[in-house]
Amino acid sequence: MTPFSFTRAVDAGDAVRQGGARGARFLGGGTNLVDLMRETIERPSALVDVTGLSSDIEELEDGGLRIGAAARNTAVAEHSAVRSRYPALARAILSGASGQIRNMATVGGNILQRTRCTYFYDNEGSRCNKRSPGQGCDAIDGLNRMHAILGASPSCVATHPSDMCVALAALDATVYLGGASGERSLALTDVHRLPDGRPEIETMLEPGELITAIELPGEPWLGRSTYRKVRDRSSYAFALVSVAAALKLEDDRIADVRIALGGVAHKPWRARKAEDVLRGGVASPGSFRAAALAELADAAPLSHNGFKITLAERTMVAVLTDLAGEVA
Ligand SMILES: Cc1cc2nc3c(=O)[nH]c(=O)nc-3n(C[C@H](O)[C@H](O)[C@H](O)COP(=O)(O)OP(=O)(O)OC[C@H]3O[C@@H](n4cnc5c(N)ncnc54)[C@H](O)[C@@H]3O)c2cc1C
Ligand code: SF4
Repeated sequence: MTPFSFTRAVDAGDAVRQGGARGARFLGGGTNLVDLMRETIERPSALVDVTGLSSDIEELEDGGLRIGAAARNTAVAEHSAVRSRYPALARAILSGASGQIRNMATVGGNILQRTRCTYFYDNEGSRCNKRSPGQGCDAIDGLNRMHAILGASPSCVATHPSDMCVALAALDATVYLGGASGERSLALTDVHRLPDGRPEIETMLEPGELITAIELPGEPWLGRSTYRKVRDRSSYAFALVSVAAALKLEDDRIADVRIALGGVAHKPWRARKAEDVLRGGVASPGSFRAAALAELADAAPLSHNGFKITLAERTMVAVLTDLAGEVA
């Protein structure tokens, strides 16, 4: 491990000041960053611990919820308002990692965790454009079963590993940021990037920008939401494919719907084409399938992951059917 300094931020302003220094990185629970430092994939010269910043989960006047970025994943998943009003979020978090890791992991760190592409982690033996820009990508012709089918590029076919972010994408969460040029917010769906030719740039955050909080909208129908993760083992495994969805029904008509996919792209994938097919139509297995096929029409499988297209289609149909209950 490369030597580094360690400090604890006393408040968000202090964190932004310290995190703006060259080579500095914020430290949440450390469950991803410290692993990457051990492998010398990340080599910060300074760690700024931000776990002492706000971890509050507060009610908003419009009926929404504000969650401090230092809130631990377990605290969010177990919060009664999250469980009852945003069940997709509670389920997504509980499907990830292990109890011990969720106890340590923070909201901010979960959003900014890095890909689990095995070639990215193989610092010594594999070529990786994300780790070493311009080097090449050994996943493209390698073992790419876990990799992307949507939005990939000839530079990188990695997927974003977070379960929580898939639910946040479907729930239309907003991410609040603080940085040298002040405060701003981004939709969760605009935080992460597709790889294009620069897979080493993973988000729209400025260097040194701090995630301070997320907000969930106050829309009661999001209580009819869920998350399903398909994986190789029933615990301690990243998603092959996952689906978060929320459904607003008026009789058998779909008044509104939100869908996001995990395990398929470099970012949590908001399935807007599928939503457009469904909105205003009748809730039925046929319409759910048509929506899934519309979303996946542009899927581009690699040599080992063609199965993900069918898996994503079937998981979308199953999740929407569950949410709709008994449909024609
Ligand atoms: C064995 C194992 C299995 C796992 N399985 C899953 C799984 O199935 N599903 C899943 O979703 N995840 C899984 N994870 C990943 C886990 O969810 C993440 O490691 C965790 O969420 C990261 O949170 P953290 O607070 O520990 O982040 P850290 O490791 O502390 O930080 C991660 C990144 O976020 C940055 N950061 C942290 N806080 C902030 C902030 N407030 N503002 C700006 N930047 C910040 C750091 O600088 C760093 O770049 C697994 C991890 C392990 C080790
Ligand atoms: S898929 Fe992306 S992260 Fe994986 S080896 Fe290729 S460039 Fe690196």
